Order: sequence, then C-alpha cells, then structure tokens
Amino acid sequence: MTDEIDNPGIKRLLAEIPLLNRRIQHYQPGIPITILAFGTGTVPPSLAEKIRGAGYRLKEVESISHLLHHEGNNTCALIVNLDALNNKQQQRVLQLAQQNLHLPVLAISTASGLEERIIAIRMGAQAFITTPVNDDQVLEEIHALTERYERDPYQVLIVDDQPSVAEFLASTLQEAGFVTHVITRPMTELMPYLQNHLPDLILLDLYMPGISGQELAGVIRQQDSLISVPIVFLSNEISPKIQVQAMCTGADVFLTKPVQPLDLLFAVESRIRRGRMVRNLVTRDSLTALLNRRESMRRLQEEVLRCQRYGNKLCVALLDLDRFKQINDTHGHAVGDRVIKHFALLLKNSLRDGDIVGRIGGEEFMAVLPETTLAVARQTFVRMADTLKENPFGHSAYTFSGGLVRCLPGMMVESLLEQADAALYSAKEAGRDQIVCVEPSASPEE
Ligand code: GH3
Ligand code: MG
Ligand code: MG
Repeated sequence: MTDEIDNPGIKRLLAEIPLLNRRIQHYQPGIPITILAFGTGTVPPSLAEKIRGAGYRLKEVESISHLLHHEGNNTCALIVNLDALNNKQQQRVLQLAQQNLHLPVLAISTASGLEERIIAIRMGAQAFITTPVNDDQVLEEIHALTERYERDPYQVLIVDDQPSVAEFLASTLQEAGFVTHVITRPMTELMPYLQNHLPDLILLDLYMPGISGQELAGVIRQQDSLISVPIVFLSNEISPKIQVQAMCTGADVFLTKPVQPLDLLFAVESRIRRGRMVRNLVTRDSLTALLNRRESMRRLQEEVLRCQRYGNKLCVALLDLDRFKQINDTHGHAVGDRVIKHFALLLKNSLRDGDIVGRIGGEEFMAVLPETTLAVARQTFVRMADTLKENPFGHSAYTFSGGLVRCLPGMMVESLLEQADAALYSAKEAGRDQIVCVEPSASPEE
C-alpha cells in the first residue's frame, strides 16, 4: 500500500494542495524573512518602508524567469498586482508560486467583487487586497502569512492496533510534511504519551483488542487540555448508525478504510488548520500574535519544571518599553500600537525557535530562554537595544528596559518573576534603556 505515495500522479496532486506545510521545511531561524514582490512598482514606497521597518527583506522580481530562478530560504510570501498582468500571466505567476516555490500569494487588485476573489482563490491566492492599498492591512496579512510559515510542523497521533495500517497512514502523512507518532497498544501507551505531548490531531481506529476507539475518544475528551484536539475515526465500519454513535463522543469526522491518501491529507490538514486557528485565538495576543499572558505563564511553568527535573539551563527576562505613555501622548495611540507590534516582531526575530515570547501586559513582554546562559541571554537583549538605536521603526525612536534572571535549582515561578521584576525596576531606576541581570553575567561558572 505504501507504494501508492510514490506514484507521480499522486505526488503532483499533493503539490497542488496549496496549504500543505511542506514549505515550512525550508525555514531557517535567525535569518530575516523575505517577501517577494512581482513587478516593479507593485509595492509602493511607503509600504516598502513599512515592510522593511517590520524586519522583513523585500525583494522585487522583474520577470517570470527571475521568479522561476528565485532561490532562497525564508521566503514567505509573494505579492502580486493582478491588474498589471493579463489573465495568462496571472495564471502562470500563481502557478509558479504554488508549484515551484510553494509560496502563499497576496493578491492586490482594484477589483473588489466576489467574482475576482473567487478567481484569485482558485488560482491559489491566500489573501486578497483591494487598491488603494492600506499599508497596515498588507503588513497584517504578511504577519499572518509568516505566522503560518514559521509554525511547527503538524503533529498527528495515529492509534491503530494493526502495525501495517498504522505505518501506511504514517508514511502518507510524513510524505506531506506532517510529523507522526504511532501507537499500536493504546491500553498501555496512549495515556503516558498524552501526558507529555499535545498532538494537533488524533487518528483513531474504531475496533482494537480490549478497547474501542469510541471509548478512547471519550477518555480523551475528558481531559481539559485535549478538548480542542480534533479526532478523526478511521475504520472499515460502514454502518451509518455505528458511525454516528462513534461521532457522538466528540469526534470530528469518520473516514472509511481503505482511505485514499488525498482524502486523508485533506481531512487531516483542514482540521488541523482550523484547530490551530482556534488554539491561537485562545493562546495568542491579538495585537502582536505573541503568546498572551495566560499562555506565557503556563509555558514558563512547564520550563521551570523541566529545569527542576533535569537541571536544564533557563533564563527569564521581563522587558518593558520606556516612557511609553509619552509615545502615546506625543504621537497618538495608533502609533503606540505600531511600536508595540514593531517591538514584538524584533523580539521574536532576535530569539531562537524554542524560546517562549509573550506579551504579558500593555507594553510588557516576557522572554523565556531554555538552554541559554545568562551571558548569552544578556547579549541577545543588548543587541536588540543596539538595533533600536538605529531607529528602524522610523516614526519615533523608542527604547526598552529589561530584568533578567537565571532559574536556579529549587526556584519557583513566583520567585523567579519577582526577581526579574525587581531587576527590571532597577533598570528603570538607573535611567532606563538597559538590561539588569540578577546574577552578574561574568560569573565564572557560566
Ligand atoms: P516606564 O518607562 O516607567 O515604563 O514608563 P511608561 O510610560 O512606559 O509606563 P506606564 O506604565 O506609566 O505607562 C504605560 C502606558 O502604556 C500606559 C498605557 O496607556 C499604555 N498602553 C498599555 N497598553 C497599550 C496598548 O495596547 N496600546 C497602546 N498604544 N498603549 C498602551
Ligand atoms: Mg513602560
Ligand atoms: Mg509598564
């Protein structure tokens, strides 16, 4: 059965599913994200400045052949002005973006009707902007696309007592860029796995020795942390009555075996995408897309426990924008908001993939850096402060202060935060625009 995925026809079809997350594999952390614009003049100067100001690299490509030869990791979106192209060119550019570059497209057009949107969507555009272009709206769309681009690969848990079936499902999903974990003995393996992992979706067989998938779904739904994880049943059970019964436990869909690879991929991908959107709404801050306060604290707690259990290195920083009230008073609340967004992006781009970044108050942020020494963490924030000295935001220069602590064995979240807060207070007292470490970064044991 696994041979099916090597079939070139299916591979071609796979390549046509626009949002499958295979392109994420090309993401390299720490390197600026590139936005491509097709055609000179597609991006007006004011928008170009904003895109660059937000930390992206903007590259204009002149022709279809340049687009075809574009190479480079961390390219995350293509902006196309549909009005500048005839139908054939539009089709060619969108096709290239999807099939060769695996890039989402942001289409700009003077046409605002449903018909034009549908044509653009059919050709693979993920976002549609009508002219005159609102720069902030475009930047929002780019932020949304980069969010999609950067996020972790989709994780699927497969529960099936038949190893050959489980392997087939796993290889089909892996081929499309998903990460899978297989459990063939749910009675003993399922609960321990779910205590330590949060899959994006669970594929459940209906009939297994000792326990039914329906019962397992019931158990899964009893856990608060798993309530939003989509469950997909997979079985050769064709009785609608039994299927409906199984669904009543809180499953999302019932697929009948043998399942076609594409049906499986569509079912899984669309549910994970929605599942993540819902999870993002609950865990992310709407202005900056960073983790919100509650989720930041939950993740900090997790990291502190890991630090206690395994003795991992861990640094925590509280950062606060300086005299932010003045920025609001001088330039207005809207500019204040943009400063917050600018800082959020700079912070995120300055840290590593496994670091946790949250907005925990109006102009207060928390960064949790696992496996990092105080000295390295300090350097990161000092470099950020140096970047801000060049005033990349343009509109109004701003600075920030920070309190940085290292988690030591036996320290609890509360005391860690208290110490970081005290250090932040000292940084403010000492004149702002600086990082204060609770433990001197020069300490020899680092
Ligand atoms: P300090 O250097 O001591 O931190 O001074 P500050 O002015 O930054 O601190 P203060 O806590 O006095 O003021 C914070 C201001 O941040 C007050 C509040 O109106 C503003 N603020 C909070 N949330 C937001 C937001 O979401 N958007 C905007 N534009 N302003 C916000
Ligand atoms: Mg402040
Ligand atoms: Mg404050």
